[in-house]
Amino acid sequence: MNRFDYVRAGSVAEAVAAAAEPGAAYLAAGTNLLDLMKGNIARPGRLVDVTHLPGLDRIEHLPGGGVRIGALVRNSDLAYDRGFAKAHPAVAEALLSGASAQLRNAATVAGNLLQRTRCPYFYDPASACNKRDPGAGCDARGGETRLHAVLGWSEHCIATHPSDFCVPLVSLDAVVEIEGKGGAREVPLDALYRLPEDRPDRETVLEPGDLIVALRLPAEAAVFAGHSRYLKVRDRTSYAFAVVSAAASLRLDGGRIGEARIALGGVALKPWRARAAETVLAGAEASERSFAEAADAALAEARPSGDNAFKIELARRLIVRALTLAAAGTPERLPALPASAFSGDALHA
Ligand SMILES: Cc1cc2nc3c(=O)[nH]c(=O)nc-3n(C[C@H](O)[C@H](O)[C@H](O)COP(=O)(O)OP(=O)(O)OC[C@H]3O[C@@H](n4cnc5c(N)ncnc54)[C@H](O)[C@@H]3O)c2cc1C
Ligand code: SF4
Repeated sequence: MNRFDYVRAGSVAEAVAAAAEPGAAYLAAGTNLLDLMKGNIARPGRLVDVTHLPGLDRIEHLPGGGVRIGALVRNSDLAYDRGFAKAHPAVAEALLSGASAQLRNAATVAGNLLQRTRCPYFYDPASACNKRDPGAGCDARGGETRLHAVLGWSEHCIATHPSDFCVPLVSLDAVVEIEGKGGAREVPLDALYRLPEDRPDRETVLEPGDLIVALRLPAEAAVFAGHSRYLKVRDRTSYAFAVVSAAASLRLDGGRIGEARIALGGVALKPWRARAAETVLAGAEASERSFAEAADAALAEARPSGDNAFKIELARRLIVRALTLAAAGTPERLPALPASAFSGDALHA
C-alpha cells in the first residue's frame, strides 16, 4: 500500500503551495488519476484536492467574444451549455463522443486535458515503459501497436494522447490559464504538450505546483460555428477511445474556403494540428479534390510505429469526410452513430 497525504485546498494559492513539492498531484474528479493509483502506476506522495476551489466551475461568455471555461467545469455541463455549443459545435461534439455519460458528468475540463495515455504497456507494471520509468525501455516497440502513434513518435515512446476534447480545441487556438509558484501565465494548448523525444515522462510544460485554472477560446473561434465537425472512429460505438479522430472547421466565402482549421486525435502523443493541410485549403475551392490534397498534406510526415499503417489511410479518409461534412454545414443535432441505440443529442437546437 502506498501512503499519501490528502489536502483539500480552499483557495488557488493554498492549492499551489500544497502541490509545489515534488511528488504531489492535483485531484479533480479522479476518473483517471485514481485508476492509475489503484493500478500502482501513479504513486503521488500528496493529493491536493481542487474540487472545492471557488469560482473554477463557471463558463463565462466574454464581452468582446470568446469564452472562458473554469478548470472544474464538468465535461457534460460544457457540452450542454447552449451558448457554448452554438459557438463551438465541434468541441461539444467531441465532448459528447468521449467516455460514457457517467464519466462525462464527473470529469473536469482540466482533468480531461491532462489525462494520461491509454497505452496498455503503460498500465501494466510488469512491462517496461519509459514514460513510467525513464530509461527502462518501451515494451510497446515490437509489441501490440495497432492503436499507437503514426506522427511525432520517437524510438523511446510511441503512445498517443487519448482526449477527444483537446482535438477541436487545438484547432481553434485554445489557451490555458495557469497559476503557479511564479504567478499567473498563459500557454497555448498546442504548446502545453510535449512530444516524447527522449523524455516521454515529461508530458507537458507544466512545472510542479502549476494549476490549470481555466481554458479560453478566442472570439475568432466562433466564426467557424456554421461549418464545424468532429468525427471519431472507434472500435465500438460508445465508451471507447478514438482509433483516429478529426476536427474540421471551415470559414466559407461562397464556394471558396476563407480559412480552415484541422486537427487529428489518436495519431500522436498530443492533439495534432494539421497546419500544412490548413495552408492547402486557404483560398481553395471547397471540393473533394482540395479536401484530398489537404488530407495528403496532413499525413505527409506520417509513418507507422508498428502494425498500424492502416491508421494513416484511415486518418486521410477521416479528414476528407470531416471536411465534406463541415462544408455541408453544422447540424443542429448530433447525428446518431451507426448502430447506436440512442438518437442524436442536441448540439445547440
Ligand atoms: C472507461 C473510460 C473511458 C474513457 N473514454 C474516454 C474517451 O473516449 N475520450 C476521452 O477524451 N476521454 C475518455 N476518458 C477519460 C476521461 O475523459 C478522463 O478520465 C477525465 O476527463 C479526467 O478528468 P478528471 O477530472 O477525472 O481528472 P483526474 O483523474 O482527477 O486528473 C487527471 C490528471 O489531471 C491532473 N489535474 C486535474 N485537474 C488539474 C488542474 N486543474 N490543474 C493541473 N492538473 C490537474 C491530475 O493531477 C491528473 O494528473 C475515459 C475514461 C475512462 C475511465
Ligand atoms: S509507448 Fe510510451 S507509454 Fe507505451 S510502453 Fe512505450 S514508453 Fe510506455
